[in-house]
Amino acid sequence: MNLKDTINNSVFSKISDIISGQNIDTYVIGGFVRDVFLQRANKDIDIVTTGDGIELAKQTAQSLHPSPKVSVFKNFGTAMFKYKGVEYEFVGTRKESYSYDSRKPMVSKGTLSDDQNRRDFTINALAISLHKNNYGELIDPFGGVEDISRKIIRTPLDPDITFSDDPLRMMRAIRFASQLNFTIQDDTFTAIQRNTKRLDIISMERIIDECHKILLSDVPSRGFLLLDKAELLVQFFPELSALKGFEIINNQGHKDNFHHTLEVVDNIAQTSSNLWLRWAALLHDIGKPKTKKYIEGQGWTFHGHEFVGTKMIPRIFKRLRLPLNEKMKYIEKLVLLHLRPIILATEEATDSAARRLLFDAGDDIDDLMLLCEADITSKNHQKVQTYLNNFTLVRTKLQEVEEKDALRNWQPPISGEEIMKTFSIKPSPIIGEIKTAIREAILDGIIQNNHESAYAYMIKIGTEKGLTPTH
Ligand code: ATP
Ligand code: MG
Repeated sequence: MNLKDTINNSVFSKISDIISGQNIDTYVIGGFVRDVFLQRANKDIDIVTTGDGIELAKQTAQSLHPSPKVSVFKNFGTAMFKYKGVEYEFVGTRKESYSYDSRKPMVSKGTLSDDQNRRDFTINALAISLHKNNYGELIDPFGGVEDISRKIIRTPLDPDITFSDDPLRMMRAIRFASQLNFTIQDDTFTAIQRNTKRLDIISMERIIDECHKILLSDVPSRGFLLLDKAELLVQFFPELSALKGFEIINNQGHKDNFHHTLEVVDNIAQTSSNLWLRWAALLHDIGKPKTKKYIEGQGWTFHGHEFVGTKMIPRIFKRLRLPLNEKMKYIEKLVLLHLRPIILATEEATDSAARRLLFDAGDDIDDLMLLCEADITSKNHQKVQTYLNNFTLVRTKLQEVEEKDALRNWQPPISGEEIMKTFSIKPSPIIGEIKTAIREAILDGIIQNNHESAYAYMIKIGTEKGLTPTH
């Protein structure tokens, strides 16, 4: 097959001129070639050469206008530059051999064929020649193109060796299956099941990187179900596996919280591409196994699972090497509050409850509403519609209250300094008490959210506490 007309790229032509003059073979390889067949844009292009990768990167960069700056990674023998928004990475064709206890291979110079053999999947082992003699020719030793058309993930060599050599490939197989909606071929999948323990030698950062890609795919449940089926999930994310299963007592069962969670994640994937909101969906019921109880007369309960779940998050984040920053705080907040809009929807939605929710959720109220809507997973269409309608009413209520009271990102209308000045007092706990009383009065709708009302209320509360206004 010749792809000359498909790969219209000015950098490839320059490379072709340079290498054909020197008579070295050079190929575009890997993800970019796969994505040509999948008609996906790919801004990350890998070039392999039988010559010197770093040297070729430099020569190519020099021949381009404007000439891009080349970053050289001498230890890896690679070099890269960015040109017109696309990253080009150059490396010599190589052969890899692995020892059992390390994922770092011994690397030596090899042929194109050696280089294709070390690739993870047939669909990622495709190469296109850039030499003038056969420019555009596809080199596909393992039937990768056919696997793309049959939507199959398969290793080029014995899968047990491929996965044992670099166990990250097990995560990558599942990630590609999830991203591309491909099937992992049986032999390849059973080899993953045999090699799960090998994941131990992979750093958590790299595992989570693949997890992020699964979460960001169109239907993330595909990936998580495969992770579970392969028994990889329980290894690095036991809290999520623990959501699996259900029990029946007195003929009463409860939802399988793992499948429910995945449905919620799939739902949220349809309304938001925010990775952290998707994480919040994944973790929203994480406290359920710890709070599960069968109560006679009530059935299955998970009381307080939102509090317990929120408490579990820092430890999970730490273990998964996720950032312990405002992203985590955001997820904690959403997990903690995820039942509040439901309460608003089912009870008489008072202004005061709406105000408190706005106050607690701040700018994340819209994401919280998306999460709650995604959390409706009943099979009964009628029920789903009713719940959605209820949430529409909640949204309207929140909007009305927000317009009236401007409580989102609320700032106290009276500062501590003003309280001290008004009553001529020094810093003391009473100032905090007055501030809290003012905030509660605003949230309960006793006073309005403005300086004038808050000032009058401060005088009242201060006086009740035995203070005398001096200003
Ligand atoms: P994407 O960039 O969409 O994540 P990709 O296939 O381009 O997918 P990269 O991580 O950019 O993935 O790797 C580029 C190529 O390098 C792959 O297509 C594959 O041929 C090879 N490769 C990457 N990681 C591995 C690995 N762990 N084992 C074997 N080959 C790999
Ligand atoms: Mg890539």
